[in-house]
Amino acid sequence: MTILWPNGSTSRPPISSGFGPRNLDNPLASKYHRGVDMYDFDTVHAIADGTVVYVGLSSGVGWSAVAGFMVWVQHDGFFSRALHNDASTVRVRKGDRVRAGDPLVGMGWSGLQGPWATHVHLEVTPGQWHTANTGQVDPVPFIEARIGQTTGGGGVANQKGTDMEAYVTAPNGTVAHLRPSSKINFKDPAHYKRHRNAIRKLRRKKATDLMLPPTLGSVPKVSWTEFETIADAIGAPKG
Ligand SMILES: [Zn+2]
Repeated sequence: MTILWPNGSTSRPPISSGFGPRNLDNPLASKYHRGVDMYDFDTVHAIADGTVVYVGLSSGVGWSAVAGFMVWVQHDGFFSRALHNDASTVRVRKGDRVRAGDPLVGMGWSGLQGPWATHVHLEVTPGQWHTANTGQVDPVPFIEARIGQTTGGGGVANQKGTDMEAYVTAPNGTVAHLRPSSKINFKDPAHYKRHRNAIRKLRRKKATDLMLPPTLGSVPKVSWTEFETIADAIGAPKG
């Protein structure tokens, strides 16, 4: 499976707004940007092989209307979301298998208000898809590091050696941080908080590329099947 940019190419399209904290004049812009805005192409393409897991308005998953018409695809070990698309041009349905570079939907302006130019807001999140608005990583270094790479086709392959990670709540209530060949089970909320604060401090100093852990309340609850799928995808121990 080759990873491509959402313009269906190995050449990165221009970026109008990058991932992370931002301070725009536009009062409608989110203060922390969980994706990257790209423009200068017409059709949004699948960035990797996968299965379409959501097609529809953001309100359908309980998100703010600002995200507009979305297409989400589960890939091998991560999932991608494309926001603000033109619903009238959608080419896929939930459950469709897609290959890297397949057209998904036309770029649009749905959900947007104010002085935005037309763009696709692309998000990449490691692990198994979920509707919580958390866990996103910067798509640019993620895709750049994998452009042209071949990984396992279909299903979930072991991604040991990649930088994927996830925070999940297991059915027994244990919150875990999954990394390749490592797993932390947090003993209690204080333990989680210390871990989160330590990573936040390191990130401020640009001393780690570990993701900022979500707040405890937004760590998604998963079934044991999902837990095992995510652990396998990341190469983390399950026990
Ligand atoms: Zn955006």
